[in-house]
Amino acid sequence: QFRALVSISNPGGPHAQSTKHGVHRGMSSVTIPPPACMLRPLEAPFRYLFGPGPSNVPPRVLAAGGRPIIGHMHSEMFGIMNDIKKGIQYAFQTSNNMTLAMSGSGHTAMECALFNIVEPGESVLVAINGIWGERVAEISERMGAKVHTLVKTPGGHFTNAEIEQALAKHKPVLFFLTHGESSAGLVHPVDGVGDICHKYNCLLLVDSVASLGAAPLLMDQQNIDILYTGSQKALNAPPGTAPISFSERACHKMFNRKAKPVSYLLDMTHLSNYWGNDGKPERTYHHTGPVSGFFALRESLAILAETGLENSWKHHTEVAEYFWKGLEDLGLKLFIKDKDLRLPSVTTIAIPEGYNWKELLAYIMKHHRIEFTGGLGPSVGMLLRIGLMGYNCNKANAAMALAALEDALKQCRMSKA
Ligand code: PMP
Repeated sequence: QFRALVSISNPGGPHAQSTKHGVHRGMSSVTIPPPACMLRPLEAPFRYLFGPGPSNVPPRVLAAGGRPIIGHMHSEMFGIMNDIKKGIQYAFQTSNNMTLAMSGSGHTAMECALFNIVEPGESVLVAINGIWGERVAEISERMGAKVHTLVKTPGGHFTNAEIEQALAKHKPVLFFLTHGESSAGLVHPVDGVGDICHKYNCLLLVDSVASLGAAPLLMDQQNIDILYTGSQKALNAPPGTAPISFSERACHKMFNRKAKPVSYLLDMTHLSNYWGNDGKPERTYHHTGPVSGFFALRESLAILAETGLENSWKHHTEVAEYFWKGLEDLGLKLFIKDKDLRLPSVTTIAIPEGYNWKELLAYIMKHHRIEFTGGLGPSVGMLLRIGLMGYNCNKANAAMALAALEDALKQCRMSKA
């Protein structure tokens, strides 16, 4: 079969010659042969994805993503996008009309929020207590915003008084906070922050990529102006789509800009039309959305709606508490001391003394087919991260993760020599 493929696609062989009338019969103008790897079948092994994402995708969601493609502008596709919008409104607990899914990963939503809300020269305030604040500060700087930061070491959190003080000092148009800091395993309190922001005429942007569906978050009740998440964590869809929603207040700012946002692809005037949110009778072509990704996202939002948000939060907390107890029984130290500030979807543990964290992770991958990860950005070398989210979130998986850790702790102790 291999030979047959080669001879069909390159019949003239590597020395084929072309003439002024084109290619000689039996010869080819192709000089680069088909790569050998492309003539082998795809190999994607099964892994237990117990890191901070992506997490394993349930068969029902995989099947939805595998359905035959329809056109991105077909009326049925618009119907599916309308369903997705309703599913996101439920997951976010918002009645915002300007609710949609980005064609792209969590970073796409992050950039969409910043590019549309902030104009060059305007001030933003970014809470940094892990990598996500760092990223937002960098993106804001690149687009010419004046960036002010509130900084804590990974695992730290900000009081409302600290936030208010910084808002009063810097008068930003936007304040960024990460709800689920996956690089540290912290769930940040959000109550009251929206009200403080509005007191200073500032919009509140919250990242819930790692927390949505796992820890309580109520967009409207908590006065969050822009909220985004990712598809690949507790929602258990494949990576590549990212729900986002904008409040009326946020829409007022982004649709009354002096200049158009720098990104055409992420321009909300176009995206709001593509998602049928701008009240115009016709949706016009802007870009080709990820049709299969939207099918899968719709199915994952359907699972969340069937489960119920409150049940989902409760379930994540129960499994996390079982897991935390098991970790402590193994003698491991949880990185976030205060139980109420621990992210239920991504648990962080201090690297145990006498072990090389990379060796632990490699051993567990090799012998148990389980992915855990180390730190990220400022938390590298400080901790290990274990995610049990959505479909992966159950006591059997928690027990499997604990058994793998117990085994690795026995096998990987560094010699004192
Ligand atoms: N924010 C948080 C809290 C995350 O955990 C992640 C992904 N690890 C992102 C943003 C970025 O998402 P993506 O990798 O999908 O771009």
